[in-house]
Amino acid sequence: MAQSGKIGVTTENIFPVIKKFLYSDHEIFLRELVANAVDATQKMKALGASGDFAGELGELSVRIELDEAAKTLKIIDSGIGMTEEEVDRYINQIAFSSAGEFLEKYKDQIGSIIGHFGLGFYSAFMVADEVTIETLSWKDGAKAVKWTCDGSPEFTMEECDKSDRGTEITLHISEDETEFAAKGRIQTLLDKYCKFMPVPVVFGKEQEWKDGKYVDTDKDNVINKVEPLWARKPSELKDEDYDNFYKALYPMGEDPLFHIHLNVEYPFHLTGILYFPKIKDKLDVQKNRIQLYCNQMFVTDSVENIVPDFLTLLHGVIDSPDIPLNVSRSYLQSDANVKKISGYITKKVADRMDDIFKNQRPALEEKWDNLKLFIEYGMISDEKFNERALKFCLLKNTDAKYFSIDEYKTAVAGEQTDKDGKLVLLYATDKDSQYSFIETAKAKGYDVLDLDCQIDSWFVNMLEQKLECRVARVDSDSVDKLIVKEEAVKPELSDEDKKTMEEAVKAVLPAGNEYYVEAANLGEAASPLLITQSEFLRRYREMSALGGGMNFYGEMPASYTITLNLQNPLMAKVAEGKYEDKKLLKQLTDLALLANGMLKGKDLAEFISRSYEMM
Ligand code: ADP
Repeated sequence: MAQSGKIGVTTENIFPVIKKFLYSDHEIFLRELVANAVDATQKMKALGASGDFAGELGELSVRIELDEAAKTLKIIDSGIGMTEEEVDRYINQIAFSSAGEFLEKYKDQIGSIIGHFGLGFYSAFMVADEVTIETLSWKDGAKAVKWTCDGSPEFTMEECDKSDRGTEITLHISEDETEFAAKGRIQTLLDKYCKFMPVPVVFGKEQEWKDGKYVDTDKDNVINKVEPLWARKPSELKDEDYDNFYKALYPMGEDPLFHIHLNVEYPFHLTGILYFPKIKDKLDVQKNRIQLYCNQMFVTDSVENIVPDFLTLLHGVIDSPDIPLNVSRSYLQSDANVKKISGYITKKVADRMDDIFKNQRPALEEKWDNLKLFIEYGMISDEKFNERALKFCLLKNTDAKYFSIDEYKTAVAGEQTDKDGKLVLLYATDKDSQYSFIETAKAKGYDVLDLDCQIDSWFVNMLEQKLECRVARVDSDSVDKLIVKEEAVKPELSDEDKKTMEEAVKAVLPAGNEYYVEAANLGEAASPLLITQSEFLRRYREMSALGGGMNFYGEMPASYTITLNLQNPLMAKVAEGKYEDKKLLKQLTDLALLANGMLKGKDLAEFISRSYEMM
């Protein structure tokens, strides 16, 4: 039966095409070959289970053997094997006729061809300059076949004396790919791609420390020891199982907050477990990422175009045979299945949060500070998620009490509705430096939210739109103007008085900012002078600093409103004296700066010594 021939593709040489387009990552060859071996093994198992095969199944593991010196890597299975006719059909014909033409036409999406048209095996030629297949089919009377190819379209095929069922693939690693002839590299790749494969994958022996060095034990080194929990039924699993699985996935990670078990069969197949991780450093890019699998075979941990952006902060695994592999990013984005999958995952996450909100409120409140970034990010970036999250999103006030958005509206509507019937929510971003403003607002009977997260500027914008309310930071204006209940009577000043006041006040304020100076009647008991920062400008400056595409605001100097309370006896005195008492005016502005946490360094030291002097 010995034969030689040309591999059945019309293009002169398919291998350069493969090398160039199929995979940017050469390492993927190992995943493809092990996956084939696992497939063949599972088919064998199925034949045994159905009774079609009545013989001895034997040990059904996939073995990887590396000879570092000879630079050969073998992938050995005891699966169904191939007959000569099957090698011819599956390997020589590459499963479809005009491959070359096809490859040419679909260059951009070439990756998806791998799975669909059976080119996985050929990825071996990315790292090897000669590949042999020795295989014996399970079928009665089959003869063992040896196929050899040196990377040109020519191959040879002959009978061989392989006596045990299955397939042994030998790669002669090429000179410029010798990294794949190193034990450490292969171990790493197997750990990465094969950790959850459904058939034991064995690579050498486990080692132990003996007489000052590592030596092989007689125990197989099994790569896939951890059970892929997502393939099991949620009803069989306890919280502890999910936590342990998380530890197996991310050995260095802290315990997750909540988990979601995904399981859908129609209109696409998808299973998986997602975790809400404990996010410590606010906008910190996560090292641990969601891992994407295809039938328990690791594909990638960059899932950016498969799950919505905000969900990339989650951890865990997604397993779906319906996500096209190795295709270009732009292709993924437009793939209808991927869109459906992304929508489904968003929905499941919202469902689960809703469930936690309804049934585990104390746990939700306890973990909220850690969850908040993730939920708020989702609400800002994903309209569908926003719709759902408005119901379960919590708001925390400065007394560390948690409310749902509806609860909060109801709680504050009485006090915090202004004269035009508009609801006004107040918040603080820093309880220490905004302390005096928070206390003033609370003394009025108002509530103050605690929004100390970097993306809260966006969150506040979103709340204003969705709730049709106004949201203002407590220090953005004097309390009477934050929530205007009645038109305030302004002190009447001549233009000249106004000018004198403005010049005098600006002269004692720190340089570099913009100031708008105004007079007001805030009552005898209120502070003599207030420094506030316009909500709008401040918020947009913050958003621009975080890269919100609003650079215009970022370039503007900080601008503050200085409100002089002419009803305060001290300020009244300064005003009556036509602002000649510079020392007292300076003292009053410094006190206001101090209340805002804005008095620092030399200015602070001067303030202290001036205070002693005045006493
Ligand atoms: P795919 O696996 O995507 O079909 P491959 O090029 O990797 O494409 O393999 C082509 C075919 O060759 C497989 O579908 C299978 O029938 C056969 N094959 C490959 N490897 C093995 C193996 N280890 N044992 C049995 N059959 C195999």
